[in-house]
Amino acid sequence: MGLPQKGLAAADVLAEIRALRDADLPTHGGHLFAYVYDPALPGLDELTQAAHGLAGHVNGLDPTAFPSLLALENALVADAASLLGGGPGTVGNVTGGGTESLLLAVKAARDSRPDVAAPRLVVPATAHAAFAKAAHYLGVALDTVPVVNLRADAEAIGAAIGPDTVLVAASAPSYAHGVVDPIPEIAAVAAERGVRFHVDACFGGWVLPYLRRLGADLPDFDLSVPGVTSISVDLHKYAYTPKGVSVLLHRSEELRLPQYFAYAGWPGYTMINAGVSSTRSGGPIAAAYAAVRHIGDDGYLHLAEAAQSAVHILAGAVNATDGVHLAAEPETTVVCLGADDGVDLFVLADELSARGWHTQPQLSYGNLPATIHLTVTAAVAPTAADFGPALADAVAATRERGPVQLPPLPALTPAEVTPALIRTLAEALGVGTGDGMAGVNTLLDAATPALREALLTAFLSFLQHPAWD
Ligand SMILES: *Cc1c(COP(=O)(O)O)cnc(C)c1O
Repeated sequence: MGLPQKGLAAADVLAEIRALRDADLPTHGGHLFAYVYDPALPGLDELTQAAHGLAGHVNGLDPTAFPSLLALENALVADAASLLGGGPGTVGNVTGGGTESLLLAVKAARDSRPDVAAPRLVVPATAHAAFAKAAHYLGVALDTVPVVNLRADAEAIGAAIGPDTVLVAASAPSYAHGVVDPIPEIAAVAAERGVRFHVDACFGGWVLPYLRRLGADLPDFDLSVPGVTSISVDLHKYAYTPKGVSVLLHRSEELRLPQYFAYAGWPGYTMINAGVSSTRSGGPIAAAYAAVRHIGDDGYLHLAEAAQSAVHILAGAVNATDGVHLAAEPETTVVCLGADDGVDLFVLADELSARGWHTQPQLSYGNLPATIHLTVTAAVAPTAADFGPALADAVAATRERGPVQLPPLPALTPAEVTPALIRTLAEALGVGTGDGMAGVNTLLDAATPALREALLTAFLSFLQHPAWD
C-alpha cells in the first residue's frame, strides 16, 4: 500500500477504519464472551473517548513534566488499594495491562534477590500464560505445580518452594475456569519460607470485592491477607475501562523498589521507569480515571450484580441442556463448559458462533479436557435468557454434524513447521473462509503444546505481513 501521495480527508480515513471494523467480532451487545468487557452503560464510551483525547499526547516518561498524569495514576492506585485491602503502606503503579503487571511483579521479586543466581517462580498449573512469558523474558525458571479440581494446592506449592524461589503466585480467579485459589493458605506457606507472594487478580480484582458484598462465598484474596506481598488488577477487565490499563500494588515501598529500572549511563536524560514502556500515553490512564469516577462504587456493585445474574442464567442453561456440562462450578464471572460423549466441543463452539454467541474454545491440556470459556460481563444480563435455546439448538446441530473428520496428517515436529507449510494447511482447513474453526481446533488439540506453539506462531507470522496491495 504505502503512503497516499496526497493526504486523505478526515472523513475518508474514518470511513476506511469503519469498513475494516465491520469484519470484527461485536465488542458490544453481550454476545462476545472473551476479549471485551462491556458494562452496557449509555454514554460511557463517549466519556472515555473524550478523556482519552484530553491526555493522549501527555507523556508518562517524566511525571514531573506532566503532573496531571501522576495525579491520575496515584488516584487510580488509591482506588485499587482501597478495593483490595491496601493500607497506609501500600504503593503501586498503573501499567499497560495484566501481562506488564505480572512481568513487573516477577522483575521486582527477581531483583530483590541478587544473591540468587538462578531464580525460580512457583505457580499453579492454572496460572496465566503471562507468568511463563515473564519467566522467559526475565531469565527466571518456572515451576508449575499440579492443581486439584482446578484449584491450586497450597501444600504442593509449599513443597515446590526451594532456596532459589524468588516468587510464588496464584490466581484470584484463574482466567480459564474462574476458580479462586486458596490465597490465605498459599500466603501462609510462602510467608513461612520468607518468599514473596503475588496474587494475580488481573481478571477478577475489580469484581470479586463486589461479588463478596453481594454474598458470594469467596475466600480472602487481597492485601488484607498476611503474606500477600503484591496483587495485580486489570482495569480494562471488570473496571470496564478502555484497553491499556492495569494496576500493580505492593504491600510496601520497600517491596516495590526493585521494580524500577534506572539508568544514568548515557549522555541523554536519566531514565527511571516503573514499567516496561518509557514513553507512554496519558490517554488510557485518563480514560480509565473517567470510567472509574463515573461508574463509582454503587455503579460497580450494580454491574457485579448484573454479571452475577447472567452467570446464574447461563450456568442454568448449561445444566439444563443434555450433552453439555459445567466444567467448573461457576464461583465468579466465568462459565466454563465441557461437552459429553457424542457432542464435539469444537463443532459446538462453531455452532454457537453461527447463532451469534461467540465463545472461547480452550484446548485440552495435560489431564484437563478441552472446554468452552465464557467471560461474563454486565452486558450479558439482558441477553442471557436467549442463550439456553441457542445452546440447545447448537448442541442438536452439533450432534447432527458429528465430529470433525481430519484428513490424515503427516506426523510433524515443531522444527518442521514452516511458513510454506502453514499456507498449505490454512488453505486445506479453509481458515478465514467463514467455515468455522472446528477443523483448526481439532488439529491443534491433537498436537503437543510445543507443536501448537510452532503452528500458531507460523500462522501469526503468515498473517502479519505488510499490506503491499
Ligand atoms: C487477562 C489476564 C492476564 C493478562 O492480562 P493482559 O491485560 O491480557 O495482558 C493475566 N492474568 C489473568 C488472570 C488474566 O485474566
